[in-house]
Amino acid sequence: MDRSADVIVIGGGIMGLNVAARLAAARAGRVVLFEKRRFGAGESGKSGAILRQHYSHQTLIAMAQSSLAAYRALHERAPGGIGLQNPGMAFVCGPADRVGLERNVALQRSLGVEVESLDAAGLRTFEPRATFADGEIGCFERAASFVIPHLTLAAVAAQARAAGAELHEGCGVAAIEQDANRRATGVRLADGTRVAARTVVVCGGPWSRALLLAAGADLPLSAVAPEQAFFIPPAGHGPDRCIWADLVNDLYWKSETTGFTRVGRLSYEHDRAVPDPDSSDEGVSGAFLADSRARLARRVAGYREAVCWGGVAALYTVTPDAQALIGPVAGHDGLLVVSGFSGHGFKLGPSVGDAVTALVAGGDAGPFERDFFAPDRFARGARRSGAYGSSVLG
Ligand SMILES: Cc1cc2nc3c(=O)[nH]c(=O)nc-3n(C[C@H](O)[C@H](O)[C@H](O)COP(=O)(O)OP(=O)(O)OC[C@H]3O[C@@H](n4cnc5c(N)ncnc54)[C@H](O)[C@@H]3O)c2cc1C
Repeated sequence: MDRSADVIVIGGGIMGLNVAARLAAARAGRVVLFEKRRFGAGESGKSGAILRQHYSHQTLIAMAQSSLAAYRALHERAPGGIGLQNPGMAFVCGPADRVGLERNVALQRSLGVEVESLDAAGLRTFEPRATFADGEIGCFERAASFVIPHLTLAAVAAQARAAGAELHEGCGVAAIEQDANRRATGVRLADGTRVAARTVVVCGGPWSRALLLAAGADLPLSAVAPEQAFFIPPAGHGPDRCIWADLVNDLYWKSETTGFTRVGRLSYEHDRAVPDPDSSDEGVSGAFLADSRARLARRVAGYREAVCWGGVAALYTVTPDAQALIGPVAGHDGLLVVSGFSGHGFKLGPSVGDAVTALVAGGDAGPFERDFFAPDRFARGARRSGAYGSSVLG
């Protein structure tokens, strides 16, 4: 071997950077992260980075709570902050999702999240510019916030370096190396350099599947391309009242710090499969832009005439139950996977960093439940289900 480390982290998205920062802070030995392009080159850089706590599972709500606290602290500490804003988030649904929404709200409240329930009349008062049908209900989560992805990634990278982690951009891992017993022994970089380590953590987002497959681990991860549209709000409209998740129109929208309104779909139904993330086309279809405008205008009529700025197709790494794979890869000692966040992972980053640090070096895993995220759960016939089926709401 040319070089050595105690833990190698592959990938400089929000997961890899948080894992490296927390491992280094826990004095888990020499922590080295390799990012093949630049921090945020994958999913994280294009993320909506909404930090909500509306989920169907206790562990996810608690991880989102713990991460929100960490992001707030980072915003205070990082020079210039991480662009954290706190507009709150409203959810609206029709009769089909009523039971699920009420269950999620009750679960949130039991964990101390402040949530206001809204009937159709309450929704109309809450946002008079929108149209709500009788029978629709909703809720408003006051603490829901968002951050600016690239500021956040830079701040977490600075945290990791300050704690002693070594981070390398422009440095791709070509292969995970293992001994004859499939124990991780390190990685081989794209330039041929070999780096030894007893622990390798794969945080490669949409690229994770191919890396792991080459190492003999076939995990149910796949990449899809969710399209996002950006609109200039109609004259006099200003920013929206809050962030919105509209289950009736299968849509979420959010006023960005740029002044544009970002619009995306909640379900994965329209996201095309991406067999090779390296040759993914970032362009969006005119049909998607027109459909986004029509769906948004059904709720907020003023958007009917809004000027479209264009859009971008990003990447999600999805699993069959829309929950991530976090933990040791069965049959491969020393190899861990942290991927498959299915379009809702940014808000969980700090808590995932704590969890992986506990898995690797011991200590407190926080609200993370190992079995919930077990990478081998599908092989055991287990799968998670959320209140709203398969969607970025988890
Ligand atoms: C459009 C969009 C909107 C979203 N909105 C939200 C939201 O509002 N709230 C929320 O919580 N989540 C949201 N998400 C999801 C969230 O952004 C992701 O779950 C999260 O960013 C995943 O981070 P990651 O670190 O796992 O993956 P990535 O960010 O994809 O990072 C993986 C990194 O690994 C690197 N890499 C890959 N292979 C190698 C290799 N061989 N060697 C070295 N480096 C390698 C890549 O270059 C990449 O930088 C959104 C995602 C998208 C795309």
